[in-house]
Amino acid sequence: MKIVLLGGPGAGKGTQAQRLVAEFGVAHISTGDLLRAAVKAGTPLGKQAKSYMDKGQLVPDSLVVDLVKERLQEEDAQRGFILDGFPRNTAQAVTLDSELNTMGIKLDAAILIDVHPDVIVKRLSSRRTCKKCGYTGGADMEVCPRCSGEMYQRDDDKPETIQHRLAVYQSQTAPLVEHYKGHRILKTVNGEQSQDKVYQDIKDLLNL
Ligand code: ADP
Ligand code: ZN
Repeated sequence: MKIVLLGGPGAGKGTQAQRLVAEFGVAHISTGDLLRAAVKAGTPLGKQAKSYMDKGQLVPDSLVVDLVKERLQEEDAQRGFILDGFPRNTAQAVTLDSELNTMGIKLDAAILIDVHPDVIVKRLSSRRTCKKCGYTGGADMEVCPRCSGEMYQRDDDKPETIQHRLAVYQSQTAPLVEHYKGHRILKTVNGEQSQDKVYQDIKDLLNL
């Protein structure tokens, strides 16, 4: 399994990726998670990335691309991978194409988890994330059901930032749908169904 997950913020990419990882043992390559880990660890990269992330802007490509390239070399990624949150603009998609080409790897699919912007705004404003493991749930969740970590509201899940992230998605990331249609590997699932149904649809699309 070598796939890219596409979809707006809060479409469910992270949730679906975690399920695929648990069932198939492939690598979950989430640039959002990698960047948040760098911020938390206070690395030079994290320090540079933080101001962009807090504002809901994209972090410069140069910072993100190397993270992904390194992650693709790791051992678990040799069994397959799910790219979540990358690529996020056309330049990143073109870089990824050439990197995979060099590695002799072909993507099986780019899966768009399709969710209407109004639904996204509602979901993100009530989203809480586990500080320890990244699990996401609703506003009523104070303790992570998976690891008992503390659930918090990400800075970029605050209302003023959500609108901006959506705009960034529409202008920069949505065009990738056409990019992967051109490569004939785009597949779309309806992301406004239950998590279980979305998961089943994804597996069906991948013939799993
Ligand atoms: P979401 O998909 O819910 O917006 P992510 O966790 O994927 O959240 O990303 C959070 C933030 O991290 C983004 O708003 C952006 O600032 C940064 N980021 C993540 N992936 C990328 C990427 N591929 N390129 C540039 N910035 C990124
Ligand atoms: Zn947790």
